[in-house]
Amino acid sequence: MRFGIDLGGSKIEIVALGTDGAELLRERVATPPGDYAATIAAIVGLVKTTEEKVMRSGIHRDGAGGTVGVGIPGTESKATGLIKNANSTCLIGQPLRLDLEAALGREVRIMNDANCFALSEATDGAAAGAAVVFGVILGTGVGGGIVIDGKVLTGANAIAGEWGHNPMPGEHHRPVCYCGRKGCIELYLSGPGMAKEHKRTTMSDLSPEAIVARAAARAADCEATLKLYETRLACALATVINIVDPDVIVLGGGLSNIDRLYANVPALWGAHVFSDRVDTRLVKNRHGDSSGVRGAARLWP
Ligand SMILES: [Zn+2]
Repeated sequence: MRFGIDLGGSKIEIVALGTDGAELLRERVATPPGDYAATIAAIVGLVKTTEEKVMRSGIHRDGAGGTVGVGIPGTESKATGLIKNANSTCLIGQPLRLDLEAALGREVRIMNDANCFALSEATDGAAAGAAVVFGVILGTGVGGGIVIDGKVLTGANAIAGEWGHNPMPGEHHRPVCYCGRKGCIELYLSGPGMAKEHKRTTMSDLSPEAIVARAAARAADCEATLKLYETRLACALATVINIVDPDVIVLGGGLSNIDRLYANVPALWGAHVFSDRVDTRLVKNRHGDSSGVRGAARLWP
């Protein structure tokens, strides 16, 4: 049996996958805000109670000692084993894997949550069967992960696919990002980024959902914000296509629910891709919010 854990900013979720990949059980608890020790205790508690429930219910015979994979909003440094790049800042600089292994008495695998998303969708999701997959999270932040022949590409610095903190191509006005760099893609393509752009040009405060709804009702200012968003997304994804040349790009996160992206963005990205034609498919995720836990469980074969 495999346990997959998605450690998010507001909730920690666990899924138990049987040997055939079927979901046996799923649980979630609130993330202790800003408290590392309590976060470790919450993860350990989830694993133990889920193990007990699986054993007691008899849905799986060897519930104890299941493998544990954890998706985190950050990355484990290959050099130090400490967490870096986490927007849940209480994780930064902590030996999360070692602490979980000590508490659980077994080996634990840790991976960036965007990589877990890409792995889940490449295994049995919207990109199943594709050789090269780029998974993109468009939510409160922007992340990405690359899966090649069913395996996550981690890279020398464990940051492969982290395009959200590349500079947005073609932008001259370059605001400062929380990461300290200027003009990051995340500033333009995240949900807060879309809302901010709309406010900058119209002075009105609208959520991305409201902008999409009003654009559908033919509000010209919202349509302009969405068109600009699509143009930027196409340009940013074209740089990925020129380097990785994925068969499929899968979108996840809240903004992946904007259905018009899947027709409009591929119609725009050709202008920036160095090819006579672009056969890359842009698709919506299949597993939605579940991709995080499912991908984390699949960190073990
Ligand atoms: Zn940044």
